[in-house]
Amino acid sequence: MSDSRTDVLVVGGGAVGLSAAWYLVNAGCSVTVVSRDRIGDGASAGNAGMIVPSHVVPLSAPGVISQGLRWLANPESPFHVKPRLDVDLARWIWAFRSHCTAAHVAHAAPILRDLSMASVDLFGEMQEQIGEFGWSRTGLMMLHRSEKARDANLRNAVIAERLGLGVRRLDGREVLALEPGLRSDADGGVLYEDDGRIDPEAFLARLSEDLVRRGAHVREGVTVLSIGNRQGSATPVLTDRGEIRASTVVLAAGAWGGRIGPRRLPVQPAKGYSITVDSDGTGPRIPTILSEEKVTITPLPGRIRFGGTLSLAGLDASVDTRRVAPIRAQVARYRPDLTAGDVDRIAVWAGFRPVSPDGLPIVGRLRLRPDIVAATGHGMMGITLAPVTGRLVADIVTGSAGVIDPAPLSPQRF
Ligand SMILES: Cc1cc2nc3c(=O)[nH]c(=O)nc-3n(C[C@H](O)[C@H](O)[C@H](O)COP(=O)(O)OP(=O)(O)OC[C@H]3O[C@@H](n4cnc5c(N)ncnc54)[C@H](O)[C@@H]3O)c2cc1C
Repeated sequence: MSDSRTDVLVVGGGAVGLSAAWYLVNAGCSVTVVSRDRIGDGASAGNAGMIVPSHVVPLSAPGVISQGLRWLANPESPFHVKPRLDVDLARWIWAFRSHCTAAHVAHAAPILRDLSMASVDLFGEMQEQIGEFGWSRTGLMMLHRSEKARDANLRNAVIAERLGLGVRRLDGREVLALEPGLRSDADGGVLYEDDGRIDPEAFLARLSEDLVRRGAHVREGVTVLSIGNRQGSATPVLTDRGEIRASTVVLAAGAWGGRIGPRRLPVQPAKGYSITVDSDGTGPRIPTILSEEKVTITPLPGRIRFGGTLSLAGLDASVDTRRVAPIRAQVARYRPDLTAGDVDRIAVWAGFRPVSPDGLPIVGRLRLRPDIVAATGHGMMGITLAPVTGRLVADIVTGSAGVIDPAPLSPQRF
């Protein structure tokens, strides 16, 4: 690749970077996207694909730290922090801890609701324009069988309901009526009617095809090494394939996003796993979260995807078989035709969620470098929030007044 010039350089070819590029092209910008490896090599391909306005309570919430400490001793627990000397991690945990308050939940929940409901509308518009990617407003069930999980689910249901989301409490009979193919012994749950799912791989494919069709440059296998000081109206960005000069640089590098650029952003990689198997069509119809196991089950076109775990272990992509065990156990339930050996041999996908300390994404211009727009930190909701983030980034770059105020997402809050 020779040196080149573009209005906007988007660093990162995940759901967030591609959505930002798509809305920037809609706004008339010339756009180049660079991604270190293939499109979808980050967290945006093998994730659960759930679109979750239901997730109004941020990860940083009261009780999370004490629950996390209890889980630390269990090698199969869904949450894990690898003990290590890492100043960034220590700072991140400190900031995370300070946000685990009821006041923070009250602040963050309406913001997450507005962002995710805006995305729900945008998914419909995008699918009409770029082609089918499996978007469907299926609803989502949070199931439980223990009293503790039921109480927690019902508490969340009240918060969601107060924020105007469609919520139905279900007993065991109603769960089975909605999902006759259920293979769980849950005896109740909550149905979130505004939720849905997409096929993440199809979403990335449709977006990048449409971008290329409309003249954007999507370059795979290009790694950004550094972002230089502004020179006149252009920012020089050094990559391993030459220099690119851009009027604006959008940092959408997911879990790697905190380390590129002149300012370190407080983003920690939180590893999760998924296993995908073929479906004969008799499997689940509604995306489901098993509250005790913290395992997700998503019906995708022709496939079922099982996911889970959240491990703060740095950018270590190795698969910890003990933590995958609860996910494999669900695969075995839904595919009883497979032997235990078959289930153990199915490939496990690992991805890094880019997690911010307050559970809100980081979107906005850097204070001392207004030529750089951050778009990262989406944590467990990066697929859900990709379209609205794309819109916000395009509004910020073009100076348009958007439907949502991006101020609470500004990088300056840290
Ligand atoms: C198991 C699991 C299940 C999940 N389920 C859901 C779900 O159901 N719903 C939901 O909303 N979210 C879910 N998530 C979260 C979601 O996947 C992420 O939040 C989202 O994919 C982040 O997207 P992104 O574009 O920011 O990052 P990524 O998809 O990780 O993309 C970042 C890109 O930046 C590139 N990059 C990095 N460094 C450089 C560099 N120096 N130069 C060039 N390119 C670079 C990478 O190669 C990568 O392509 C899940 C995550 C996991 C792990």
